[in-house]
Amino acid sequence: MAHLSLKKIEKVYANGFKAVHGVDLEVRDGEFMVFVGPSGCAKSTLLRMIAGLESITGGELHIGSKKVNELAPKQRGIAMVFQNYALYPHMTVYENLAFGLKLAGTPKPEVAQRVRHAAQLLEMEHLLERYPKQLSGGQAQRVAVGRAIVKKPEVFLFDEPLSNLDAKLRASMRVRLTELHRNLRESGQPATVVYVTHDQVEAMTMGERICVLKEGVIQQVDTPTALYDHP
Ligand code: ADP
Ligand code: ADP
Repeated sequence: MAHLSLKKIEKVYANGFKAVHGVDLEVRDGEFMVFVGPSGCAKSTLLRMIAGLESITGGELHIGSKKVNELAPKQRGIAMVFQNYALYPHMTVYENLAFGLKLAGTPKPEVAQRVRHAAQLLEMEHLLERYPKQLSGGQAQRVAVGRAIVKKPEVFLFDEPLSNLDAKLRASMRVRLTELHRNLRESGQPATVVYVTHDQVEAMTMGERICVLKEGVIQQVDTPTALYDHP
């Protein structure tokens, strides 16, 4: 079963501009899908529609077996990681990770267990007592990813999460996020990922499949190898 299904998805903005033209796409359960394309090709519009942050003006969006067109973000089983990952400055890493779960009324022992599990997966158990200002850019971005992991979402949405990092950190985060996806799969919590980037290298090294967009239309959907052989 396709985990995320976009059928003839369209977006017409309030000013009448049509940003997305009948996009059809199936993202499989546990798959790492990358949306790539130049600025303005509608990567974030699509991601924000999947997240429920932008209305869908045509077509159908399913997550699992559920049609989610009209559902609020919280009810979609998704978690989103942004490039501007604003952590709460007055809270430790532990508290940053735990905050959303506590708000949702998750019992304390389960909060502690989920936070610890996320910290293990991201190799940041030693950072739990630190405050955001004591973290490097890469460490802070890991905490931002951790905040998504603790929610145990069905679908992870990444919006250019590495674009504020320098080249060296970006390279190491690419590896970390790819490993994280594999580890989640191996630990029996496979993560369906939609990852938006304008960076070809990120797309080619991280995506299991890549969806190439241009002006709100899908140009190609294929594996990195196939795209590399037949660009
Ligand atoms: P990308 O993420 O690929 O850079 P966007 O999804 O941000 O592209 O934008 C896709 C197109 O939609 C662009 O032409 C952009 O100018 C337009 N657009 C984005 N937001 C709005 C809006 N709120 N109103 C009108 N047009 C918009
Ligand atoms: P509250 O602020 O609501 O009292 P805490 O976040 O302080 O809740 O603690 C909740 C539980 O999480 C505690 O029982 C504790 O075992 C665990 N915990 C808190 N901080 C850490 C930490 N830095 N590392 C590991 N476990 C922690």
